[in-house]
This record gives sequence, structure tokens and C-alpha cells, in this order.
Amino acid sequence: MFAANIFMRDFVFSQGSRFLERSAQRSLSNAEKLVQEAVDVFSVLPHFRVPVCDAVLQDRFRVMMLRHPVLHDVGLVYNGNYMYCSSMKESTRFVPVSDQVTANASHLSLVVVKDNLTDKNGILVQWHISERVSIGAFLLSDSFALDAIQANFADFYRMKLVLNNGDIIAETSPESRLKDQSPFYNFEFDPAWTKDLIEQTMPSDRYPIQVAVGVPFDAVWNSYVGAMNVINGLSILAGALILFFCVRLGLKKPDPYHSIEAGIRRKEFIPFYQPIIDIQTGRLSGCEVLVRWRKPDGTILSPGHFIDVAEASGLARPMTTLLMEQVASDLSIAYQDNPGLKVAINLFNGHFQDLAVVQEIQKIFGNSGVHYKQLVFEITERLPLENLDRARAVITRLQDLGIRVALDDAGTGHGGFAYLQKLGMDIIKIDKLFVDAITEETDSVPIVDSLSQMAKGLDMVVVAEGVETEQQLSYLRRSGIDEAQGYLFAPALPASGYVQLVNAIGGGALKKGRSSKNDSRKQNSADQGKKSA
Ligand code: C2E
Ligand code: CA
Ligand code: CA
Repeated sequence: MFAANIFMRDFVFSQGSRFLERSAQRSLSNAEKLVQEAVDVFSVLPHFRVPVCDAVLQDRFRVMMLRHPVLHDVGLVYNGNYMYCSSMKESTRFVPVSDQVTANASHLSLVVVKDNLTDKNGILVQWHISERVSIGAFLLSDSFALDAIQANFADFYRMKLVLNNGDIIAETSPESRLKDQSPFYNFEFDPAWTKDLIEQTMPSDRYPIQVAVGVPFDAVWNSYVGAMNVINGLSILAGALILFFCVRLGLKKPDPYHSIEAGIRRKEFIPFYQPIIDIQTGRLSGCEVLVRWRKPDGTILSPGHFIDVAEASGLARPMTTLLMEQVASDLSIAYQDNPGLKVAINLFNGHFQDLAVVQEIQKIFGNSGVHYKQLVFEITERLPLENLDRARAVITRLQDLGIRVALDDAGTGHGGFAYLQKLGMDIIKIDKLFVDAITEETDSVPIVDSLSQMAKGLDMVVVAEGVETEQQLSYLRRSGIDEAQGYLFAPALPASGYVQLVNAIGGGALKKGRSSKNDSRKQNSADQGKKSA
């Protein structure tokens, strides 16, 4: 828009100049025509000798006046200021207003005078016959019709017809025009006139006269206001379009698919670990792996920003592979020392349609310090499984290895009880939605109770998610829920934080829970050896 404004200023300036130039040209040629009429008169009168002022000469002057009505008077002039032998019969005295200016032809001169008889200003055009005597033609200033500018800025222009010495023959100005409209108008000098003018001067190549015209730039600018608004609008639009295309082309952000793909390549997807607590004993029972995207600038994005794209685009598989590899390396040592701890990893529904995932898991964890018995894979109930039989086959293969499978987000989705029975889950995770229903005011949350009872009937472990308050914790405990995770205990921690926690307390109690009376570590350790082999 700035550039457009600069461009517009140039444009307005050149348009204004051109307009003034044409107007000055018209005024000048009008003026030249008038002077020419005077010169025409001289050419047909005796102008080589001082003529005798007789009736014949006066008649000839009168005829000239009839033929050239624009001339106010014609006669002999003495000393440049006294007209005698005039066509008007009376002699008159001129008061010179300016110096005499000589034309190209040295016999010809022009001078601005005031006619004493009529009290009017005009120019006296003289053909000099002798040192003191000339033939003169008097033209009233008023007869020099200066061009009436036809433009939106017509109120503001100022035009002068001047002799080459600068003396004014005729003039039109904002003040004079207003005064013409109303004689009582008390005009003041327009301060706008003094600044930022567009001006044109047009000298005559025939006579010593010229036209000067000017108009304040602002007046011309304002007359283009409508156009300016259009131009400004267009330039804003153009700017917006340019910006749009810059953003699309130059500064183009990679689309989410490609940035996730690149993120996977650069290993920017990392596991965070949210501790899971055995709420009956108060011991740490393990963790859930929650993916985070650590951008090169250090910002950490939670799954809400990318998980759906990853799932829909097929990038979920390589992302999960990357996570599992990191889990294996993050926890190998700490989990070898604490065989009773589990780690739950979220899988996508697609994983459960393809037995290849089992091989992948074996490849990653088979030789790691994280044993199969420590592994839990979560499958969400939120989204339907395409083929239940195939999912069942995958789950069975995993369970054969000693890996456990959890139904995530239980109670929120499609499968319900049928899922639990058909798929043969080991663990059921009660969604935060139902845990949130446990408040200070509530005596009972039937869905939590019934999920818990149902799970017990199927010999499943029940984990509650999103536990934030002591009330929720004690309700869940009373309801027979085995384990819980949530901000009441800990958020998802980076690997170092979680490993520190494990090293500090191992399978011991966290502050929030009750401490256990018997240490189950040794017994779990024995189990591990059996199943992971
Ligand atoms: P989810 O599996 O139900 O995970 C629990 C979510 O609840 C996590 O959000 C966790 O940070 C959050 N959370 C835990 N405790 C509390 C609490 O006390 N209060 C509240 N308000 N929130 C709590 P997150 O990490 O944003 O993950 C969101 C979802 O993204 C997960 O829900 C899971 O469905 C998905 N997701 C996360 N990581 C993975 C992954 O590695 N693979 C797959 N397939 N899905 C993942
Ligand atoms: Ca989960
Ligand atoms: Ca959940």
C-alpha cells in the first residue's frame, strides 16, 4: 500500500501537471490572439512616420475598432502614457502599472497600465513610430479570458497572465472567484497555496507574455480520493494476495503429513511415562507410555496435535515402532532391576489387524531388558475394530508371549461387554470421563462400580485413568479398582524422570497410596524369567 501510495502521488502529480499545462496553453493562445489583433491593426495603419492627427486618421481608428471589437481603444500615444487622436474622441491618460517590455520586434512593446478614464487595468500594446510617439491599442485585462478549469480541483487553482517581467496582466484565484460570487466575501490568503504546489509556466514565443498556473497538490490529491480508495482497496487486496502466495510458495509450511514423517525420521517423537499406582497397596505398578513430539526448538507437543493425522495417514506404524525402540532402551536397565513393573504402550487399531506387529514387538523387546511379562498393549474402545477375529488372533499371539492386553477408554466406545468377552482382555482401563463423575457430592457412580464388578467377574485388572483428587482415589479404592494413574500421583514424565522414580522407589509405595506390607518384588522376578524366555 505504501508503494501504491508513492505511485499514486507520482500519478496525481503528473496528471495535475498535464491538466495545468493544457489549461495554460489555452489561456496563452487566447492572450496571443488578442495581442495579435492589436498588431493586425498596426499593420494596416501608417506606422513608419508620425501621422497627423486628423479626422481621416480618427475615422480609420474607429473603423479598426469596429473590426476588432476586443480592442478597448486605439489611438496615438505620446510618451507611452497619453492617448490622443483616440477612436473614442476623448484623450486619456494611462498610469503605467509596470515597466514597458519590448517584444521580439523592437518596435513593439507591451506595458500594463491603468486607464484613468475608465479606471480599468489593461495592457497597452504599442508600435513605436518615433522616440516619443507610438500607435497604441488598449486591451482590458478582463478581456483576457483565462481558461476556466473544468476539474474537481477547479476551486483551488490560481492562474496569471504576466508580462515577461512578472507584472500581472490578468489573474484568477480562489479569492477573486469567491469575491466574484459574493462581493462581501472577506477573503484571506489561502495558506494551502504556499505549500506543495503543482505548477506550470507557459511562455509565448511570439510576445513577451506568459501564463503561470498552479494548484495545491492536496487539492488535486483530494480530487482523486475516490480513485485512491479504489486503489488503496486494490493494493490491500493485491498485498493480501501476494502475502497469500508468499505463504503458499515461499514460506510454505510443510503439510502435517510431511512434517510428521520428517519428525519420525529425526526421532522427534519420544515416549513420556505416566506412573500407574496400585491403589490397594500404594506401590508403583508401572507406567503408561504417552507419546510427545519434541520439536527442534524444544517445544513439546501432546498427541492431540498430531495423533489423528498419524493414524489416518499410516504414519502411526513407524511412529509406534520408534516409540517402542525408545521404550526398550529407556527402561531396559531399570526394568531388569524391577521385574514387577509393567509398561503399557498404546497401539492403534490398525496394529490389531496385522500379525506382523507381533514379530515387530518380538524383535524390539525380545532381547531387551523389558520382558514380555512387563509389557501391556492398550487397544482403544473409542474406535471400532475392522475385523474382530483378526484382532483376536493378534491378541492371542501376544498373550502367548506373556504380554498383556488392555482395553483402553472402556465404557466410551463401540465394543462394550462384547469386546471384553470376544477379545479376552487382561486389563480394563476406566476412562477419565467416569472418574470425573466422582465428585465431593456424589455418593455413588454406578458405571464405575459396574465396570469394576464386571472386570472382577472376568478376572481382569481394573485401572482408573485421570485421577485428580483424594475423593476419587478413595472412591476407586472402595469400589475395588486395582490401579490408577492421574495428576494426583504424577503427570507423564520424561524418561529420565520416570527412571529416577523407579530407581528411587522401585516397586515401593508412592506418597499418595498406602504402603504395602509385603514386598512382591522377588515373586514377580521369578514370573518374569518364566514368561519372557
Ligand atoms: P489415553 O491413552 O487415554 O491417555 C491418557 C491421557 O490422559 C493422556 O493424555 C494423559 O496425559 C492424560 N492424563 C493422565 N492423567 C490425567 C489427569 O489426571 N488429568 C487429566 N486431565 N489428564 C490426564 P495425552 O498424553 O494427551 O494423550 C492423549 C491420548 O493420545 C491418549 O489417551 C491416547 O489415546 C493417545 N496417545 C498418546 N500416546 C499414544 C501413543 O503412543 N500411541 C497411541 N496409539 N496413542 C497415544
Ligand atoms: Ca491409553
Ligand atoms: Ca483413556
